[in-house]
Amino acid sequence: MQKSYVLVTVYLLLLTVCASAQTLKLKYPPTGFVTERLAVSDFEIWKAIELTVFAEDKEGQSLHPTLRNLWQWVETSGHTVFIEIIKVRGISNCTAGLFTIERFDPLGEHHIAVIKLNLTNINLAYVGPETRKSNGFVPFKGLGKKERYAEVLGHELAHAVHILTSLERARLVEDLVQQTNQILLSRYGKKQRVHQTTPSDLSRRVAKRDELLRRLEKQAEQMEKVIWQELFAGKRLNSKLPALASKESDRRKNSLAFGQTRKPDQAGKK
Ligand SMILES: [Zn+2]
Repeated sequence: MQKSYVLVTVYLLLLTVCASAQTLKLKYPPTGFVTERLAVSDFEIWKAIELTVFAEDKEGQSLHPTLRNLWQWVETSGHTVFIEIIKVRGISNCTAGLFTIERFDPLGEHHIAVIKLNLTNINLAYVGPETRKSNGFVPFKGLGKKERYAEVLGHELAHAVHILTSLERARLVEDLVQQTNQILLSRYGKKQRVHQTTPSDLSRRVAKRDELLRRLEKQAEQMEKVIWQELFAGKRLNSKLPALASKESDRRKNSLAFGQTRKPDQAGKK
């Protein structure tokens, strides 16, 4: 009788330990890119984007060093960046890509963020003089499908690195962008009374948010221009050296070192 009592106690203790481990896992997802939200077919697309990011010339020099550096910063930052791929035409809050902070860490040690790539909108994006940015480049011009995805990823990574490298900036994004969006959403929902924001307070808030978004966008577009230049130059080089490009692609596919992101069923175990 006493023996079975001890066994039950041990079993309950084990259950408690497992439950705590699960809670910790949920509370603290792995750092770097986390691809567990991707379907298997989308994970293949993500791997193709990764190959583009890390493409090299015949001397082993990175073809896209800006993109690669941004990627590597995220991988070693101590923050989590979930990757999501969506395929919806014309969705208003994710034209081509989107970066948002899902959980802000007041200590700045482990923010949880997400980057969404809208492949349908990227594929259908018009490329021409009308879409020329104020800093002079035309997004996607001369690029293939994978390079377009990589360019949008680069734009969102530029946001990620710019925002997550400064606790003050991350807090500003949390307070002005995320909170304002939340207030706007909740005005018409059940949480209407939670935020006691007067219409004039709200319009001041929205104006401040839009000013911050303009500044953030300007910075990301500067980075995107450089990324586009590198992708464009790399594509021209690759078109001259198709054999080399495919050799490099095979090498990376087979390389263990390349496995910086895991398949969806393995993600979260990094
Ligand atoms: Zn942007």
